[in-house]
Amino acid sequence: MDMKTRRTTITESAREIPVLMEADVVVVGGGTTGPIAAIAAARRGRKVVLIERFGSLGGILTLGLNTKPSGALVGGIPLEIWNLARSVGGAGEDYMATTKTGGVKIASPTDPEIMKMLLTRLCVEAGVQILFETFVSNPVVENDAVTGVVIEGKGGRQFVATKVLIDCSADADMAAKAGAPFVMGSGDADPKMQPVSMYFIMKNVDLKRLADWARTTDDVPARAIPADDEGLAYGLWLTGFNGMLRRFQAETGIKLQRENITLKTADGQMYVNATRVLGVNVFSPAEFTAAILECYRQIEGVARFLRERVPGFEAARIGQVSPILGVRETRHIEGEYMLTGRDTHGGIRFDDSIGADSSALDIHDPKGGDVDFQSMPPYEIPYRCLVPLGVEQILVAGRSISADHDAHARSRNMPACMATGQAAGVAAAIAVEEGVTVRKVPVAKVQSALRQLGMPLHAEEIGAS
Ligand SMILES: Cc1cc2nc3c(=O)[nH]c(=O)nc-3n(C[C@H](O)[C@H](O)[C@H](O)COP(=O)(O)OP(=O)(O)OC[C@H]3O[C@@H](n4cnc5c(N)ncnc54)[C@H](O)[C@@H]3O)c2cc1C
Repeated sequence: MDMKTRRTTITESAREIPVLMEADVVVVGGGTTGPIAAIAAARRGRKVVLIERFGSLGGILTLGLNTKPSGALVGGIPLEIWNLARSVGGAGEDYMATTKTGGVKIASPTDPEIMKMLLTRLCVEAGVQILFETFVSNPVVENDAVTGVVIEGKGGRQFVATKVLIDCSADADMAAKAGAPFVMGSGDADPKMQPVSMYFIMKNVDLKRLADWARTTDDVPARAIPADDEGLAYGLWLTGFNGMLRRFQAETGIKLQRENITLKTADGQMYVNATRVLGVNVFSPAEFTAAILECYRQIEGVARFLRERVPGFEAARIGQVSPILGVRETRHIEGEYMLTGRDTHGGIRFDDSIGADSSALDIHDPKGGDVDFQSMPPYEIPYRCLVPLGVEQILVAGRSISADHDAHARSRNMPACMATGQAAGVAAAIAVEEGVTVRKVPVAKVQSALRQLGMPLHAEEIGAS
C-alpha cells in the first residue's frame, strides 16, 4: 500500500455487549488511591467494584516500588493501613528527613509485597468486588451523566453499570473520555510536565557500612540515618551524591540524567530512585516504550556507579526492576475549583476541605536539573477539586485532581492522593445514600464522616510537618 492510500483512521462497527454487573460505585484504577476509595465507599454499605488492569493492587506504591509517602499519614484509612502494615512487619517507624529547608516527617516506607496483600485483604473484607487484569476502555455517558464503564479482558468487552464512577486511573482517563475539561502539565501551548522514572532494587547492600559512610560525607545533604542498626531496615533515606555522580560520568563517559539520586530502604532492601526521562508523551505507545528502554540503560549505569563508587554496594546486584514506568504528571482535570501553588503554601482555609496534607513539595524540574524537595506548612484540599466540570456522577481522586502544575508538586504525593481517594469514596457513598449527584452532595455530611474516620480536615489540626 503506498502512502496515498494508507488509512489514518478506521470505523468500528456498533455491537451489543453483555452487562457483567451493576454497582453503586465503580472505582477505576487499583493503585495508590483506588483501593482507599473503594474501601471507604464499601464500608458505608455500598456495592463497590474496583477495576485494575494489573494483577495486584497498589500501582506506583507497590508495583512501581515507590513505597514511601513523602509526608506524614495524618489519619483516616491511610494511617489505619500503615499501622496494620507496621503490625505485621511491613513498615517501620516514621522518621524525620533532613532537607535544605528543614525536617520533613516521612511515613515509613512499606514492603510492597505485604502492602499488595494487605490492600487486597482490606478490600475483600469491606465487600469490594475486585476485577483484576481488566482494562477499562471507556465510560458510558447518558444525558450528561456517567452510567457505567466498558471493560476489556480475556472475556471480551463487557459493561459494568454504576451510579457513581471514581476515576483513580492517575491520568484522569475516565473523566477526559467522558468529556470533562483538563489541562496537561503546566497548561501552556508547550506544556511542561515532571519527568518519568523507573525504580529498581539493589540487593546484597551492606546497609551498616553505607550508613556509617553517609554520616561522614557532605555529598549526601538530604538524609535520614537511624541511630541504631535495627532502624536500617526501613529508616535509611539518602538524597544527593551530586559530586560523585558528576565525577563518575566524566570518568566513564556514561550519561545519567539526574544531578542527584535517592536511596531508601524497605524491609532491608535498597530502593533506588535515580532514572529520569524528560518530555515523554506517555499517551504514545512508542514513546512510552522508548522511555522504558532509556530507563533500563540508566539503571545499568546507576547500578555500576553504586557498585564502583558508594561504600556498602561492593557486592550489590540489581534485585528487581519495577515492571511499570513511573509517570509523575499528565492531565489535571478542571474541577469546580483548581488548587493553585499558592494555596498549597499553607495559611488558606477551605470550608469544604476534605483533608489536611503535610506532604513535602517534591518537584523534578521539567527542564532537567535538581529535585526540589522541601518541607512546607500543611495545606488543605477542597472537595471541589475532586468534582470535574462538564459531566455528572464522576469524581477524580489521586494525582490528576484539579490542581495546577505548581500545586500538583505537593498534591501528587501519596499522602494527598490517599486522602482524596478516601474522600471520594465517602462522598460517592453519601451521594448514593441521599439520592443526590456527587456535585450536590452535602459536603458537611462528607466532612463529618471523614472526621469519624479520624481524618484531620484543617491545617491547624495537624500542626507543622
Ligand atoms: C518515580 C516516582 C517517584 C515518586 N516518588 C514519590 C515519593 O517518594 N513519595 C510520594 O509520596 N510520592 C511519590 N511519587 C508520587 C506518587 O507516587 C504518585 O503521584 C501516586 O502514587 C499516584 O497515585 P495514583 O493512585 O493517582 O496512581 P497509581 O498509583 O499510578 O494508580 C493508578 C492505577 O490505575 C490503574 N489504571 C490506569 N488506567 C486504567 C484503566 N484504564 N483500567 C484499569 N486500570 C487502570 C493502573 O494500573 C494503576 O494501578 C512518585 C511518583 C513517581 C512516578
